[in-house]
Amino acid sequence: MPTISRRTSGLGTENAFVVLAEVNELVRAGRDIVSFCIGQPDFPTPANIQDAAVRAIREGRHGYTASAGIDELRAAAASYMGRMRGISISPADVVIAAGAKPFIAYTILSVTDPGAGHEVIYPNPGFPIYESQIAVNGAVGVPLHLREARGFAFDPEELESKINERTRLLILNSPQNPTGGILDAGALEAIAAVLRRHPQVWIYADEIYSRLVYEGRFHSIASLAGMAERTIISDGASKTWAMTGWRIGFAANAALAPHFVRWITNTESCAAQVSQWAALEAINGPQHAAEAMRESFLERRDLIVGLLNQIPGVHCRTPGGAFYAWPNVTDACHMIGAEDSEVFRRRLLAEAGVAVLADIHFGQRVPGEGQHIRFSYAASPQAIETGIERMAEFIRSNTKH
Ligand code: PMP
Repeated sequence: MPTISRRTSGLGTENAFVVLAEVNELVRAGRDIVSFCIGQPDFPTPANIQDAAVRAIREGRHGYTASAGIDELRAAAASYMGRMRGISISPADVVIAAGAKPFIAYTILSVTDPGAGHEVIYPNPGFPIYESQIAVNGAVGVPLHLREARGFAFDPEELESKINERTRLLILNSPQNPTGGILDAGALEAIAAVLRRHPQVWIYADEIYSRLVYEGRFHSIASLAGMAERTIISDGASKTWAMTGWRIGFAANAALAPHFVRWITNTESCAAQVSQWAALEAINGPQHAAEAMRESFLERRDLIVGLLNQIPGVHCRTPGGAFYAWPNVTDACHMIGAEDSEVFRRRLLAEAGVAVLADIHFGQRVPGEGQHIRFSYAASPQAIETGIERMAEFIRSNTKH
Protein backbone atom coordinates (compact mmCIF):
# COMPACT_ATOMS: atom_id res chain seq x y z
CA MET A 1 0.00 0.00 0.00
CA PRO A 2 1.50 3.39 -0.92
CA THR A 3 1.91 5.68 2.10
CA ILE A 4 0.06 8.79 3.21
CA SER A 5 2.27 11.82 3.89
CA ARG A 6 3.10 12.78 7.45
CA ARG A 7 1.82 16.25 6.62
CA THR A 8 -1.60 14.90 5.73
CA SER A 9 -1.73 12.38 8.56
CA GLY A 10 -1.06 15.21 11.01
CA LEU A 11 -3.55 17.65 9.48
CA GLY A 12 -5.93 19.15 12.04
CA THR A 13 -9.64 19.61 11.48
CA GLU A 14 -12.73 21.46 12.55
CA ASN A 15 -14.15 19.24 15.29
CA ALA A 16 -17.59 20.73 14.80
CA PHE A 17 -17.83 18.39 11.82
CA VAL A 18 -16.68 15.41 13.92
CA VAL A 19 -19.26 16.08 16.63
CA LEU A 20 -21.87 16.63 13.93
CA ALA A 21 -21.18 13.12 12.63
CA GLU A 22 -21.68 11.80 16.19
CA VAL A 23 -24.96 13.69 16.45
CA ASN A 24 -26.18 12.40 13.09
CA GLU A 25 -25.45 8.84 14.16
CA LEU A 26 -27.53 9.30 17.32
CA VAL A 27 -30.35 10.85 15.30
CA ARG A 28 -30.27 7.91 12.87
CA ALA A 29 -30.51 5.58 15.86
CA GLY A 30 -33.75 7.34 16.80
CA ARG A 31 -32.48 9.65 19.58
CA ASP A 32 -34.03 13.08 20.00
CA ILE A 33 -31.08 15.51 20.00
CA VAL A 34 -31.15 19.28 20.42
CA SER A 35 -28.05 20.48 18.56
CA PHE A 36 -26.10 23.68 19.16
CA CYS A 37 -23.05 22.48 17.21
CA ILE A 38 -23.11 24.04 13.83
CA GLY A 39 -21.99 27.59 13.25
CA GLN A 40 -24.30 28.78 10.54
CA PRO A 41 -27.44 30.92 10.29
CA ASP A 42 -30.60 28.81 10.41
CA PHE A 43 -32.34 31.01 7.83
CA PRO A 44 -32.71 30.51 4.09
CA THR A 45 -30.74 32.87 1.85
CA PRO A 46 -32.95 35.95 1.22
CA ALA A 47 -35.20 35.63 -1.85
CA ASN A 48 -33.70 38.56 -3.78
CA ILE A 49 -30.32 36.80 -3.62
CA GLN A 50 -31.78 33.47 -4.72
CA ASP A 51 -33.44 35.27 -7.65
CA ALA A 52 -30.15 36.86 -8.70
CA ALA A 53 -28.56 33.41 -8.81
CA VAL A 54 -31.42 31.97 -10.88
CA ARG A 55 -31.08 34.92 -13.26
CA ALA A 56 -27.34 34.29 -13.58
CA ILE A 57 -27.99 30.64 -14.43
CA ARG A 58 -30.65 31.54 -17.01
CA GLU A 59 -28.44 34.20 -18.57
CA GLY A 60 -25.74 31.62 -19.15
CA ARG A 61 -23.19 32.90 -16.65
CA HIS A 62 -21.74 29.44 -16.28
CA GLY A 63 -18.06 29.72 -17.08
CA TYR A 64 -14.87 30.40 -15.21
CA THR A 65 -14.30 33.95 -14.08
CA ALA A 66 -10.99 35.71 -13.52
CA SER A 67 -9.28 34.16 -10.47
CA ALA A 68 -9.72 37.46 -8.63
CA GLY A 69 -13.50 37.31 -9.19
CA ILE A 70 -15.91 39.28 -11.40
CA ASP A 71 -15.15 43.02 -11.55
CA GLU A 72 -18.66 43.93 -10.37
CA LEU A 73 -18.30 41.93 -7.16
CA ARG A 74 -14.75 43.13 -6.47
CA ALA A 75 -15.95 46.72 -6.79
CA ALA A 76 -19.01 46.10 -4.60
CA ALA A 77 -16.99 44.26 -1.95
CA ALA A 78 -14.32 46.98 -1.94
CA SER A 79 -16.88 49.69 -1.39
CA TYR A 80 -18.79 47.63 1.21
CA MET A 81 -15.71 46.63 3.23
CA GLY A 82 -14.36 50.16 3.07
CA ARG A 83 -17.68 51.69 4.15
CA MET A 84 -17.93 49.36 7.16
CA ARG A 85 -14.43 50.32 8.28
CA GLY A 86 -14.32 53.99 7.34
CA ILE A 87 -11.43 53.51 4.91
CA SER A 88 -11.02 53.58 1.18
CA ILE A 89 -10.40 50.22 -0.53
CA SER A 90 -9.63 49.93 -4.23
CA PRO A 91 -11.41 47.15 -6.20
CA ALA A 92 -7.98 46.05 -7.45
CA ASP A 93 -7.01 45.18 -3.87
CA VAL A 94 -9.97 42.84 -3.36
CA VAL A 95 -9.99 39.14 -4.20
CA ILE A 96 -13.00 36.78 -4.18
CA ALA A 97 -12.65 33.14 -3.08
CA ALA A 98 -14.85 30.14 -2.27
CA GLY A 99 -15.60 31.39 1.24
CA ALA A 100 -13.48 33.38 3.65
CA LYS A 101 -11.81 30.21 4.89
CA PRO A 102 -9.37 29.75 1.97
CA PHE A 103 -7.81 33.15 2.74
CA ILE A 104 -6.53 31.78 6.05
CA ALA A 105 -4.28 29.34 4.18
CA TYR A 106 -3.47 31.77 1.35
CA THR A 107 -2.29 34.34 3.88
CA ILE A 108 -0.10 31.91 5.82
CA LEU A 109 1.31 30.60 2.53
CA SER A 110 1.99 34.13 1.31
CA VAL A 111 3.82 35.48 4.37
CA THR A 112 5.68 32.49 5.86
CA ASP A 113 8.17 29.98 4.46
CA PRO A 114 8.03 26.34 5.54
CA GLY A 115 10.69 25.28 8.00
CA ALA A 116 12.10 28.81 8.31
CA GLY A 117 10.89 29.20 11.90
CA HIS A 118 8.39 31.90 10.90
CA GLU A 119 5.92 32.39 13.72
CA VAL A 120 2.19 33.08 13.54
CA ILE A 121 0.35 34.31 16.62
CA TYR A 122 -3.27 33.18 16.78
CA PRO A 123 -6.13 33.45 19.28
CA ASN A 124 -6.68 30.60 21.73
CA PRO A 125 -9.42 29.52 22.07
CA GLY A 126 -10.03 30.18 18.39
CA PHE A 127 -11.25 28.92 15.05
CA PRO A 128 -9.32 25.62 14.78
CA ILE A 129 -8.38 26.10 11.14
CA TYR A 130 -5.84 28.79 12.11
CA GLU A 131 -3.81 26.29 14.10
CA SER A 132 -4.06 23.49 11.56
CA GLN A 133 -3.13 25.68 8.58
CA ILE A 134 -0.17 27.22 10.43
CA ALA A 135 1.19 23.78 11.27
CA VAL A 136 0.58 22.05 7.95
CA ASN A 137 2.25 24.89 6.07
CA GLY A 138 5.42 24.58 8.13
CA ALA A 139 5.12 27.73 10.23
CA VAL A 140 5.27 27.86 14.03
CA GLY A 141 2.01 28.55 15.84
CA VAL A 142 2.12 30.77 18.90
CA PRO A 143 -1.19 30.73 20.82
CA LEU A 144 -2.33 33.99 22.38
CA HIS A 145 -4.64 33.36 25.31
CA LEU A 146 -8.05 35.01 25.50
CA ARG A 147 -9.14 35.99 29.01
CA GLU A 148 -12.68 35.74 30.30
CA ALA A 149 -12.14 38.72 32.64
CA ARG A 150 -11.36 40.85 29.56
CA GLY A 151 -14.52 39.80 27.75
CA PHE A 152 -12.39 37.25 25.88
CA ALA A 153 -9.93 39.79 24.54
CA PHE A 154 -6.23 39.28 25.22
CA ASP A 155 -3.71 41.30 27.18
CA PRO A 156 -1.74 43.55 24.77
CA GLU A 157 1.35 43.04 26.96
CA GLU A 158 0.98 39.30 26.52
CA LEU A 159 0.81 39.94 22.76
CA GLU A 160 4.00 41.99 22.83
CA SER A 161 5.81 39.32 24.86
CA LYS A 162 5.09 36.82 22.04
CA ILE A 163 6.43 38.98 19.20
CA ASN A 164 10.04 38.53 18.10
CA GLU A 165 12.04 38.89 14.88
CA ARG A 166 10.60 35.59 13.58
CA THR A 167 6.98 36.74 13.96
CA ARG A 168 5.37 37.16 10.54
CA LEU A 169 1.66 37.24 11.19
CA LEU A 170 -0.90 38.00 13.89
CA ILE A 171 -4.37 36.56 13.42
CA LEU A 172 -7.22 38.56 14.96
CA ASN A 173 -10.88 37.48 14.93
CA SER A 174 -13.63 39.87 15.96
CA PRO A 175 -16.47 39.17 16.61
CA GLN A 176 -14.99 35.89 17.69
CA ASN A 177 -15.63 32.22 17.24
CA PRO A 178 -16.01 30.49 19.76
CA THR A 179 -16.41 33.05 22.56
CA GLY A 180 -18.60 35.67 20.88
CA GLY A 181 -16.15 38.24 22.24
CA ILE A 182 -15.37 41.44 20.38
CA LEU A 183 -12.27 43.58 20.21
CA ASP A 184 -13.66 47.03 21.02
CA ALA A 185 -12.13 50.35 19.95
CA GLY A 186 -9.95 50.52 23.08
CA ALA A 187 -8.59 46.98 22.68
CA LEU A 188 -7.82 47.58 19.01
CA GLU A 189 -5.99 50.84 19.79
CA ALA A 190 -3.85 49.00 22.34
CA ILE A 191 -3.08 46.23 19.82
CA ALA A 192 -2.21 48.78 17.13
CA ALA A 193 0.13 50.56 19.56
CA VAL A 194 2.01 47.28 20.08
CA LEU A 195 2.10 46.50 16.36
CA ARG A 196 3.49 49.92 15.43
CA ARG A 197 6.63 48.88 17.31
CA HIS A 198 6.87 45.72 15.18
CA PRO A 199 6.49 46.68 11.53
CA GLN A 200 7.47 43.20 10.27
CA VAL A 201 4.17 41.67 11.42
CA TRP A 202 1.21 41.24 9.06
CA ILE A 203 -2.29 41.20 10.51
CA TYR A 204 -5.02 38.83 9.36
CA ALA A 205 -8.29 40.40 10.48
CA ASP A 206 -10.92 37.65 10.32
CA GLU A 207 -14.04 39.78 10.29
CA ILE A 208 -16.53 37.27 8.90
CA TYR A 209 -18.97 38.19 11.72
CA SER A 210 -18.63 41.96 11.16
CA ARG A 211 -22.39 42.47 10.69
CA LEU A 212 -23.27 40.52 13.83
CA VAL A 213 -22.30 43.05 16.51
CA TYR A 214 -24.94 43.71 19.17
CA GLU A 215 -23.74 46.70 21.14
CA GLY A 216 -22.23 49.76 19.57
CA ARG A 217 -20.80 49.44 16.09
CA PHE A 218 -18.24 47.18 14.49
CA HIS A 219 -14.58 48.21 14.75
CA SER A 220 -11.68 46.98 12.64
CA ILE A 221 -7.96 47.20 13.25
CA ALA A 222 -7.71 48.26 9.57
CA SER A 223 -9.30 51.62 10.43
CA LEU A 224 -6.42 52.64 12.70
CA ALA A 225 -3.46 54.73 11.60
CA GLY A 226 -0.80 52.74 9.76
CA MET A 227 -2.70 49.45 9.96
CA ALA A 228 -4.54 49.16 6.61
CA GLU A 229 -1.44 48.44 4.51
CA ARG A 230 -0.39 45.54 6.69
CA THR A 231 -3.87 44.13 7.35
CA ILE A 232 -5.59 41.46 5.31
CA ILE A 233 -9.27 42.18 5.84
CA SER A 234 -11.29 39.01 5.53
CA ASP A 235 -15.07 39.11 5.28
CA GLY A 236 -17.71 37.32 3.25
CA ALA A 237 -21.27 36.37 2.48
CA SER A 238 -21.67 33.26 4.67
CA LYS A 239 -22.81 34.70 7.97
CA THR A 240 -24.28 38.07 6.99
CA TRP A 241 -26.69 36.85 4.32
CA ALA A 242 -27.09 33.19 5.38
CA MET A 243 -25.01 31.99 2.43
CA THR A 244 -22.65 29.42 3.97
CA GLY A 245 -23.17 26.87 1.20
CA TRP A 246 -22.77 29.38 -1.64
CA ARG A 247 -19.07 29.73 -0.78
CA ILE A 248 -18.19 33.39 -1.25
CA GLY A 249 -15.56 35.25 0.75
CA PHE A 250 -13.66 38.44 0.04
CA ALA A 251 -10.27 39.65 1.24
CA ALA A 252 -8.59 43.03 0.84
CA ASN A 253 -4.92 43.92 0.91
CA ALA A 254 -3.06 45.89 -1.75
CA ALA A 255 0.27 44.08 -1.54
CA LEU A 256 -1.09 40.55 -1.15
CA ALA A 257 -4.03 40.64 -3.58
CA PRO A 258 -1.94 39.62 -6.63
CA HIS A 259 -0.42 36.75 -4.64
CA PHE A 260 -3.84 35.56 -3.49
CA VAL A 261 -4.92 35.60 -7.13
CA ARG A 262 -2.05 33.28 -8.06
CA TRP A 263 -2.90 30.97 -5.18
CA ILE A 264 -6.49 30.84 -6.42
CA THR A 265 -5.33 30.08 -9.96
CA ASN A 266 -3.30 27.23 -8.45
CA THR A 267 -6.15 25.82 -6.39
CA GLU A 268 -9.84 26.65 -6.99
CA SER A 269 -9.39 28.65 -10.28
CA CYS A 270 -12.19 30.97 -9.19
CA ALA A 271 -15.24 31.09 -6.94
CA ALA A 272 -18.44 29.72 -8.51
CA GLN A 273 -19.69 32.30 -10.97
CA VAL A 274 -23.37 31.91 -10.06
CA SER A 275 -22.53 32.50 -6.39
CA GLN A 276 -20.57 35.62 -7.29
CA TRP A 277 -23.61 37.19 -8.98
CA ALA A 278 -25.70 36.21 -5.97
CA ALA A 279 -23.18 37.84 -3.61
CA LEU A 280 -23.29 41.01 -5.72
CA GLU A 281 -27.04 41.21 -5.07
CA ALA A 282 -26.42 40.42 -1.38
CA ILE A 283 -24.16 43.45 -1.04
CA ASN A 284 -25.99 45.90 -3.30
CA GLY A 285 -29.59 44.79 -2.72
CA PRO A 286 -31.94 45.59 0.18
CA GLN A 287 -30.55 44.79 3.63
CA HIS A 288 -33.74 44.25 5.62
CA ALA A 289 -33.41 40.44 5.64
CA ALA A 290 -29.83 40.62 6.94
CA GLU A 291 -30.92 43.15 9.55
CA ALA A 292 -33.88 40.97 10.61
CA MET A 293 -31.52 37.99 11.04
CA ARG A 294 -29.24 40.08 13.22
CA GLU A 295 -32.16 41.15 15.38
CA SER A 296 -33.31 37.58 15.69
CA PHE A 297 -29.82 36.45 16.78
CA LEU A 298 -29.77 39.25 19.35
CA GLU A 299 -33.09 38.08 20.84
CA ARG A 300 -31.82 34.51 21.00
CA ARG A 301 -28.54 35.65 22.55
CA ASP A 302 -30.46 37.31 25.35
CA LEU A 303 -32.68 34.24 25.73
CA ILE A 304 -29.86 31.70 25.94
CA VAL A 305 -27.57 33.79 28.16
CA GLY A 306 -30.45 34.50 30.56
CA LEU A 307 -31.39 30.80 30.76
CA LEU A 308 -27.78 29.62 31.14
CA ASN A 309 -27.16 32.02 34.01
CA GLN A 310 -30.13 30.55 35.90
CA ILE A 311 -28.42 27.14 36.04
CA PRO A 312 -26.42 26.57 39.23
CA GLY A 313 -22.76 25.98 38.35
CA VAL A 314 -22.96 27.79 34.99
CA HIS A 315 -21.81 31.36 34.31
CA CYS A 316 -22.15 32.94 30.91
CA ARG A 317 -20.85 36.37 29.92
CA THR A 318 -22.99 38.21 27.41
CA PRO A 319 -21.23 37.84 24.06
CA GLY A 320 -20.94 41.07 22.05
CA GLY A 321 -21.19 39.46 18.62
CA ALA A 322 -21.42 36.42 16.31
CA PHE A 323 -23.92 33.71 17.37
CA TYR A 324 -21.96 31.83 20.00
CA ALA A 325 -22.29 31.59 23.77
CA TRP A 326 -19.28 30.33 25.73
CA PRO A 327 -20.44 29.57 29.26
CA ASN A 328 -18.00 28.71 32.02
CA VAL A 329 -19.02 25.28 33.33
CA THR A 330 -16.15 24.72 35.78
CA ASP A 331 -18.48 24.53 38.80
CA ALA A 332 -21.02 22.39 36.95
CA CYS A 333 -18.25 19.90 36.11
CA HIS A 334 -17.32 19.67 39.81
CA MET A 335 -20.94 19.30 40.81
CA ILE A 336 -21.58 16.29 38.58
CA GLY A 337 -18.12 14.76 38.92
CA ALA A 338 -17.08 15.35 35.30
CA GLU A 339 -13.33 15.75 35.15
CA ASP A 340 -13.42 18.37 32.40
CA SER A 341 -15.56 20.10 29.79
CA GLU A 342 -15.09 17.32 27.24
CA VAL A 343 -16.43 14.68 29.66
CA PHE A 344 -19.24 17.10 30.48
CA ARG A 345 -20.00 17.56 26.77
CA ARG A 346 -20.03 13.82 26.05
CA ARG A 347 -22.32 13.11 28.97
CA LEU A 348 -24.59 16.02 28.08
CA LEU A 349 -24.98 14.51 24.61
CA ALA A 350 -25.35 10.88 25.70
CA GLU A 351 -27.52 11.40 28.78
CA ALA A 352 -29.50 14.56 27.99
CA GLY A 353 -29.50 14.65 24.17
CA VAL A 354 -27.94 18.12 23.96
CA ALA A 355 -25.10 18.60 21.48
CA VAL A 356 -22.50 21.31 22.09
CA LEU A 357 -18.76 21.64 21.50
CA ALA A 358 -16.11 21.73 24.22
CA ASP A 359 -13.25 24.21 24.64
CA ILE A 360 -10.70 21.58 23.56
CA HIS A 361 -12.25 21.72 20.08
CA PHE A 362 -10.89 25.26 19.83
CA GLY A 363 -7.30 24.79 21.02
CA GLN A 364 -5.47 24.00 24.22
CA ARG A 365 -7.36 24.87 27.37
CA VAL A 366 -6.11 28.20 28.71
CA PRO A 367 -4.42 27.68 32.12
CA GLY A 368 -6.40 29.27 34.93
CA GLU A 369 -9.44 30.00 32.76
CA GLY A 370 -11.52 26.95 33.72
CA GLN A 371 -13.84 24.82 31.59
CA HIS A 372 -16.05 26.10 28.79
CA ILE A 373 -18.47 24.74 26.23
CA ARG A 374 -19.75 26.40 23.06
CA PHE A 375 -23.35 26.87 22.05
CA SER A 376 -24.19 28.10 18.57
CA TYR A 377 -27.49 29.85 19.28
CA ALA A 378 -28.43 29.99 15.59
CA ALA A 379 -31.24 27.64 16.67
CA SER A 380 -34.95 28.25 17.19
CA PRO A 381 -36.03 29.86 20.50
CA GLN A 382 -37.95 26.65 21.21
CA ALA A 383 -34.79 24.54 20.70
CA ILE A 384 -32.94 26.93 23.01
CA GLU A 385 -35.57 26.60 25.73
CA THR A 386 -35.74 22.81 25.44
CA GLY A 387 -31.97 22.36 25.23
CA ILE A 388 -31.16 24.57 28.21
CA GLU A 389 -33.94 23.00 30.30
CA ARG A 390 -32.47 19.58 29.53
CA MET A 391 -29.01 20.78 30.53
CA ALA A 392 -30.36 22.24 33.79
CA GLU A 393 -32.11 18.97 34.59
CA PHE A 394 -28.97 16.99 33.65
CA ILE A 395 -26.87 18.99 36.13
CA ARG A 396 -29.59 18.94 38.81
CA SER A 397 -30.14 15.19 38.68
CA ASN A 398 -26.42 14.36 38.55
CA THR A 399 -25.23 16.73 41.29
CA LYS A 400 -23.41 14.76 43.95
CA HIS A 401 -24.29 15.80 47.49
N1 PMP B 1 -13.57 32.42 10.17
C1 PMP B 1 -14.30 32.10 11.25
C2 PMP B 1 -13.90 32.63 12.57
C3 PMP B 1 -15.42 31.28 11.12
O1 PMP B 1 -16.14 30.95 12.21
C4 PMP B 1 -15.78 30.78 9.84
C5 PMP B 1 -16.96 29.88 9.63
N2 PMP B 1 -17.27 28.99 10.63
C6 PMP B 1 -14.98 31.13 8.76
C7 PMP B 1 -13.89 31.96 8.96
C8 PMP B 1 -15.23 30.61 7.37
O2 PMP B 1 -16.30 31.18 6.75
P1 PMP B 1 -16.64 30.87 5.23
O3 PMP B 1 -17.93 30.13 5.22
O4 PMP B 1 -16.77 32.21 4.59
O5 PMP B 1 -15.53 30.10 4.63
